[in-house]
Amino acid sequence: MKIMSSKILLTILYDNIAAENDLQAGWGFSCLVEGAGETILFDTGARGEVLLSNMKKLGISPRDIDIVVLSHFHGDHTGGIDALLEENHEVSVYFPSSFSRGFLERILASGAGVVPVSSCLKIMPGVSVTTETGDMTREIAMVIETDRGLIVMTGCAHPGVKSILEKVECISPDKLLMLIGGLHLEARSRFEIELLASTLAKKGLSHPAPCHCSGDLSKEVFRNQFPGYIETGVGRKIRLKDI
Ligand SMILES: [Zn+2]
Ligand SMILES: [Zn+2]
Repeated sequence: MKIMSSKILLTILYDNIAAENDLQAGWGFSCLVEGAGETILFDTGARGEVLLSNMKKLGISPRDIDIVVLSHFHGDHTGGIDALLEENHEVSVYFPSSFSRGFLERILASGAGVVPVSSCLKIMPGVSVTTETGDMTREIAMVIETDRGLIVMTGCAHPGVKSILEKVECISPDKLLMLIGGLHLEARSRFEIELLASTLAKKGLSHPAPCHCSGDLSKEVFRNQFPGYIETGVGRKIRLKDI
């Protein structure tokens, strides 16, 4: 099943920069997905009080959230989970199956549901997570299948963007519409980033939205190469019908 892209709203709740002055920036990433069926929080940033404060200022209640997806174990993506679960534990939390037993037990103790992810998995019609990938840091990505192509959301993309996109193929062969999240390109050269941008363009990508650990250089290269480039930062609302 494909989701009508015009219904989808993405709101960045945690990012290294703020798109609006009264919101707090911080190292980490979190993005809310609405309009895909149930409401999903992808990653929780580093600090719970910052996440909850940004949500409040944006008029989003923690109780609106049905599902939480954690991309990988680093604290700048999982740090806000306890504060969130204190506000709303009636959620299911999806995370790579390589997460520690202690983490799983902590989430269960809060009363929330847990779903360790060890293979490509459908969360709901049109929304899936990839199998975990990477040697050092195991990471999953989320994929939303829309009528205009795939939205792929990454936390830090530690295993590399290309490696993550290979895992997306087990979910859908459709073209890539949007790539949003941390792309871990801070240490990459202009040449490497330009090469990646060309590869992504060949996969049909039209709307890159690099956040968090993507680095200023990748933002500059992508902004120049893709007319559909999307500016990011805390508070940025991305309505698919507007892009
Ligand atoms: Zn990380
Ligand atoms: Zn990170």
